[in-house]
Amino acid sequence: MTANPYIIKVILKAMSKLLFIGLDSALTYFIETFTRRGLMPKTAELIEKGCYLKTLPSPPTDTPTNWATLMTGCWAGTHGLTSFSVHLPGDPLTKRYSTLNSRMCQVKFLWDILEEHGLKTIVVNYPVAWPPTIEKGIVIGGPAPLGSPWRIGFSKCFSTKTLKGKYSPSTLRLELRKSNNPILKEKSVIEPLEAEVKLFSQLNRDVRHYKVLNSPTYILGIVGEKEYRKAILLKGEKVLAELGVGEWSPWIIDNITTDKGVVRAAIRVKLAKLTSDGRDVRLYCTDFYDTRGWCSRSELTEEIVENVGPYTEGFEHPGMHEDLGYISWLEDDYKTLLEQAEMQARWFVNLAKYLLEKEKWDAFIMHYHLPDGLNHWLLGYLHKDHPAYSEEKYRIAFKVYSEGYQIIDKMISGLVSPVDSEDTIIVIASDHGSMPHWKFVNLIPKLVEYGLIAYKWDPEEKVFEIDWSRSKVFPYFEPSYIWVNLKSRYPHGIVEDEDYDEVVEKTIEALYSIRDPETGECPIALALRKEDAIYLGQWGDRVGDVIFFLKPSYSCWNTPRFDKIDPSVLALGDVAPVRDKPTNVTGYHSTYLPNARIGNFEITAPLIIAGPGVKKRYKREKPVYMVDIAPTILHLLGLEIPEYIEGRVLREILA
Ligand SMILES: [Zn+2]
Repeated sequence: MTANPYIIKVILKAMSKLLFIGLDSALTYFIETFTRRGLMPKTAELIEKGCYLKTLPSPPTDTPTNWATLMTGCWAGTHGLTSFSVHLPGDPLTKRYSTLNSRMCQVKFLWDILEEHGLKTIVVNYPVAWPPTIEKGIVIGGPAPLGSPWRIGFSKCFSTKTLKGKYSPSTLRLELRKSNNPILKEKSVIEPLEAEVKLFSQLNRDVRHYKVLNSPTYILGIVGEKEYRKAILLKGEKVLAELGVGEWSPWIIDNITTDKGVVRAAIRVKLAKLTSDGRDVRLYCTDFYDTRGWCSRSELTEEIVENVGPYTEGFEHPGMHEDLGYISWLEDDYKTLLEQAEMQARWFVNLAKYLLEKEKWDAFIMHYHLPDGLNHWLLGYLHKDHPAYSEEKYRIAFKVYSEGYQIIDKMISGLVSPVDSEDTIIVIASDHGSMPHWKFVNLIPKLVEYGLIAYKWDPEEKVFEIDWSRSKVFPYFEPSYIWVNLKSRYPHGIVEDEDYDEVVEKTIEALYSIRDPETGECPIALALRKEDAIYLGQWGDRVGDVIFFLKPSYSCWNTPRFDKIDPSVLALGDVAPVRDKPTNVTGYHSTYLPNARIGNFEITAPLIIAGPGVKKRYKREKPVYMVDIAPTILHLLGLEIPEYIEGRVLREILA
C-alpha cells in the first residue's frame, strides 16, 4: 500500500513547530550587507535554505502597531493599536492609552489561534502580549520597549569622579577610604580601600512603577598586590563578586523594601574602570528588576530565574534620552552595552532551550529590541548629510552595527540549533525599518496661521496652552494624525458636523504650505483625509481625521505635547535643523510612508522564512505586506485562516 502524499503532507504540516524571532527595526541594508560579508553565517544559511522578502509595515510605521499587525494579520485600522498610545472615542483629545497592552488589541493574536488549535505557545518579551491572553501557553514579560512594569531602576554608575561625558550614565559618588575589613585585608597585599554602595538605590527618574524605601548596603572593596587590580563586592561577610577591570558580577538578587512591599530585585555590576592608584574607580550597574510577576505561570518564575536568569527588558536597548543615564554608544564604552545585548540574547537562547525540554512547546514567539536601539542612536552617523556625521563616527557606528548584528546572528543560531529544522517553520521578522533624520518639522505655526489652532499664555507654567474655544483641530505626532475638534465628539468641541469637510481640507492645505526655509521643499510626503487612506489600512474610530507622512530626513521627534507648548518651540519656525534643537536620536521611523527610503536605509522591513513547505533560495524583489505574515504562518502550520484576517497567504514562497 502506498501512502497518499497529500495526507502525509497534511500530517507533516500539522506536526510542524514554529520558531518566530522578532527583531525590532532590523534593517534590510544590514541583513543584506552582513550576510554577504560572512558576518551573519546562520542568517545567511537560513536565507539560502528558505525565502528572503521585504515587508511594508502597516502605518503608523512603528513598534506596537506592527508587532500587532505581524501577530494578527490585520491592518492598524482593524487591530486598533495605532502607534504607542491610542485615543478612544468619547475621551477628550488629550487622553490617550498605552498600546503596549494586549487588552487594547481589537482582534485575536496568532498565539490565541494556535492555542485554540491545541498548540502550546511560549511568547517572550513581545511588546503587545502582556497581560497574557493564553492559558495553556506561557507569556513572559512584554510591554517593551523600556516600558516594563517590573523595572525598578535604570542603569547608573558609582564613580570616584563625576562623569561629564555628554551621555554618561548618572553618577553616584564613590568615597573610598582605607579599610580594616578582615576579608579585604586577607585578599590584599597593599592597604585595601572600601566604600559603601547601595546597588538598589533609585534616582528620581527611576521612580515609576516602584518606589524603593529601603535597600541593603554592600561594601565595594579595592584590593591588589603591588597596585590596585580588583574590586570585591561584599554583603556582610559574604563575597558576592571578585572583579577585574571589565568583568561582570553574576546576578545579585536581594530583598528590597518598596511601596509595593518587599521585592526580590536583580542586578548585575561591572567594574568599568580601576586605575592602579585606586583614584579612578567606576562600578557600572545595570537596570534592576523585580524577579517576580512577569511570567503568566507564576510557579515557573523561580525555576526560570534559577535555570536561565531573571527577566529583564531594555538591557539590549539604550535609552533614547540622555537623562535615562545609559552609557553612550560613541563617547564612552559602547562595549558595555553590547555586552548587555549579548547577555540578553543568551537569555533568550537559554530560555527557549530550557522551555523546549521542560514544556515541549509547539511555538516560541519572541522579540529582541537591539536593532531599534542601534538605529535611534547611531543611524544618523551613517549618512553624510547628517550634521553629526564624520568619517570617524561613521567608522565607530558601523563597527557597533557589525558587532550588534553578529550578536543577533549568534542568537538566531542558538535559538535554531535545538529545534529540528525539518519540522520547524522559522520566521525572522522585523516590525519596521528606520532612516536617519536631521530636520525637525514644527506643525504649529502653520496651523495657527490658518486659524486652525489657538493658544493662550499661561504665566504660571510659562507655556502656551491650547485654547479649545478657538481650536478647530488638534495634532498628534505619534501617530501622525490630526483630529477635528467636533462639537458632536468632544466636550471641548467647537466644529459643527457640517463644517467637518472644510476644516479637513484647510488642514491638509496648511500642512502642504509648510516649507523648509533652506531648500524651499515641503517636508510633507502625503497628507490625506481618513476616507482616502483606506488603502493604507487606516479606518475605524481610533484613526485621526487627517493622516500625514513626512519625507525622509524630516521628523517631528522631540515635539512636545501639543496642548502645552514651550515658547522655544514656537520660536523654531516651520522647519528647523536638528542643530537648533539638539537630540541624540539620529534615526527615526514613525512618521514615514511604509516604502520610504533614503540612501541605504528604508522603512520596509526584512523577512526570512524557512522550513517545511517553504521554497529554498527564493527572493522576491517586490515587497509584500506585514499583514501577510500571520496568514502565511497559519497556512504553513496547516491551520485554517480565520476570515477576518486581512493579509494573504504568500503562495509564491510555498514549495
Ligand atoms: Zn519597533
